[in-house]
Amino acid sequence: MSPSEYSVPVPSDRTAILCLHCGKPQEVGRKAMSVTCKFCSKSLRLEDVKITRYEARRVIETCGTGTIDKKGHVVSDVRCVSLNLQGKLKGDVVSLGKVEVATNAELKGDVTATSMNVQPGAMLEGNYSIGPRVNGAPPDKAPIARANGEEAQPAPVPVEEAAPEPRGESQSIGSAPVIKIPVRKRVPTARH
Ligand SMILES: [Zn+2]
Repeated sequence: MSPSEYSVPVPSDRTAILCLHCGKPQEVGRKAMSVTCKFCSKSLRLEDVKITRYEARRVIETCGTGTIDKKGHVVSDVRCVSLNLQGKLKGDVVSLGKVEVATNAELKGDVTATSMNVQPGAMLEGNYSIGPRVNGAPPDKAPIARANGEEAQPAPVPVEEAAPEPRGESQSIGSAPVIKIPVRKRVPTARH
């Protein structure tokens, strides 16, 4: 089956997901547990993750909902589509959707999400970038639009003062065919 052929409407056993790495939407089988992103080729876990005890990891990734139970205590970065924090979390969170922080939950780390809902009594420590993602931008580098309609324009992208580098030149040299001619050493012929 060629993945690029989609001439038929999406069957009901398929669902749309967002890639955690490149942010691109794609269709996957509803029952699939994991897929490979067809844009960036990274593997994506689709099932929801629920943590009910102490866990330390490098990163927790899911294209579904990450839930950290009241008894959960997670030391890890989290990448997910939505996060429901009821226990403790120490690590940076990148959520393509919302982040819910319940009463008495503890969150130490930076949060990037499209929306965040914090219940009274939750403890927070970190930096927050909350707002809609700019279309298709990778979650890591997505400029976050300002909430509250302060300025509806996307965050300014730092403009590098690019010195005019003759990049094309080196490329044309690299692509030019190099013909190597075997050079024979001249063996001095002895004259008699
Ligand atoms: Zn991807």
